[in-house]
Amino acid sequence: MKIGVLALQGAVREHIRLVEACGEEAIPIKRVEELSGIDGLILPGGESTTMRRLMDRYGFTEILRESDLPMFGTCAGLILLARNIEGYEEGHLGKLDITVERNSFGRQVDSFEEELPVAGIEEKALAVFIRAPHIRETGEGVETLSKTAGRIVAVRSDRHLGISFHPELTDSLVFHRFFIDMVKVDMDNKLSVGM
Ligand code: GLN
Repeated sequence: MKIGVLALQGAVREHIRLVEACGEEAIPIKRVEELSGIDGLILPGGESTTMRRLMDRYGFTEILRESDLPMFGTCAGLILLARNIEGYEEGHLGKLDITVERNSFGRQVDSFEEELPVAGIEEKALAVFIRAPHIRETGEGVETLSKTAGRIVAVRSDRHLGISFHPELTDSLVFHRFFIDMVKVDMDNKLSVGM
């Protein structure tokens, strides 16, 4: 299995480190041609409007909208995956049927760390929130995995995983393992239908 990390902006090396700590190969993705060699893609945190501009400039936006690659978005990456963004006319990639609100944890607490329970998993995840978004609404086929202070901060659908925070700034492998398991299921499904 090869996991790509979109390497236009943000915490790329940190994600690569955690994927490797899970025992899988990780590849920074700088050009669209490199997408054909991977089984899943991580969209890191950073600044979502800057990342969108870079994705447009390097030709990623359309290709990723149409791609059936499993994707895992953290923080700004979650915003990229969302179908709707509070206060904006349209989303970026529209992969997850959710509405997100940007920078929704208040100015005075721009950054905090927390141990989060995750639905269906015994181990708690260590989460760093930095000017984090939260998920206001989830649509059909989207499962809530974690909440903090009554707010949804981690969700999944069949092929997409989105979280408000940064596990890659910790040594917590919970969500990277979770994504790798999703990619395995997807690879098995693609094999069985002969894709
Ligand atoms: N506030 C950023 C945004 O709206 C996300 C912050 C992050 O990725 N740490 O894009």
